[in-house]
Amino acid sequence: MDISNNIKNIPATCIILASTMIITNYILPIYIPPKQKHHIKPIKALIWPIAMLLTLQSSNVNTLPYLFNPFQLKLHIWVGLYIMKAIGLGILESIVLCFIRNTKKLKYRENNKRAKGLEALQIIDYLFLFANSFVETIFVHHLCVFVLNDKYIIKSMDEMNIINTFLSFYLLFLADDFFYAISHRFMHWGPIYPWIHKHHHRQPLPERGYLDAGNEHPLEQLIGLGCVFLAIRLISYVTTIHIVSMFIYFNIYALLAILNHTPYDVKFYGFGFEYSVAAHEMHHRNPKSNYAQYFMYWDVLMGTYKPYDDGARYNKKSNNNNNNNKMMEKMNNIKKKKTRSSSTKSNQSKKK
Ligand SMILES: [Zn+2]
Ligand SMILES: [Zn+2]
Repeated sequence: MDISNNIKNIPATCIILASTMIITNYILPIYIPPKQKHHIKPIKALIWPIAMLLTLQSSNVNTLPYLFNPFQLKLHIWVGLYIMKAIGLGILESIVLCFIRNTKKLKYRENNKRAKGLEALQIIDYLFLFANSFVETIFVHHLCVFVLNDKYIIKSMDEMNIINTFLSFYLLFLADDFFYAISHRFMHWGPIYPWIHKHHHRQPLPERGYLDAGNEHPLEQLIGLGCVFLAIRLISYVTTIHIVSMFIYFNIYALLAILNHTPYDVKFYGFGFEYSVAAHEMHHRNPKSNYAQYFMYWDVLMGTYKPYDDGARYNKKSNNNNNNNKMMEKMNNIKKKKTRSSSTKSNQSKKK
């Protein structure tokens, strides 16, 4: 490492850190309205990692270009791939929604008409969605570098077998959900929660598919993708993974994440795999439950599993209220009729 180069860049590092301190502690609180104060912590948690990257860049010029563009692609190709990925996700979401549009909606939403989700997305939501689309793209680039260079990821069609396709596919979900359930629970830990994961829980009843799934803090996106990478690394050692299996895994992974943030009652069961949109809805309604997404046994083991509550009591309450209202209406009508008939009788007696 060139120490003289680092010493030269100490002023740059100091300027970056000082300006980040000023922005996060003095400028942000002025420009964020009092009603939106809860956004300050997530924004700070986005600005500081960016500042750290910039300080890293100020001491080593190759850090950021490699991080954002490991294949050293030309800008128009990088942007083209970014757009293709966005279109691909859009197509995947349209196909999913087309298939499930006639599926019944989750009962809680039918029973509790008063329950409402996040009605409109705000600037911070679009900012995080935009940032996450970059994080996803950069992750895909690095994953391709890894896949091309790793001997445990099988590329040859001749070497395809049940173990490196079906078994590895199943184990990828199992391992990813194990890492995810633990890290998800960690993100719900009191001192950490308001900085990163609370943003995703502003939506108590997900319904927008990708927009609600991807509406999370970029650090959370990194943690989620980190879990996926850990699972790939681990399972590739155990069974090896065929590249076709991995490709299908990523598509199904994205599809299930989108589905989990729709209002439809979709579920898939088998061999311990237990995916249901209802379980994730319960997590959004009761954030201290159902941290896993595909194997609810992880929650059973952690003691955090909560079965689906369809909110039938709200329906009974509203039915009782309706019945009470109808009774009151009937009583009022009877009273009105009585007063009318008594007044006509008195008028007739006066005339006599
Ligand atoms: Zn969610
Ligand atoms: Zn959560």
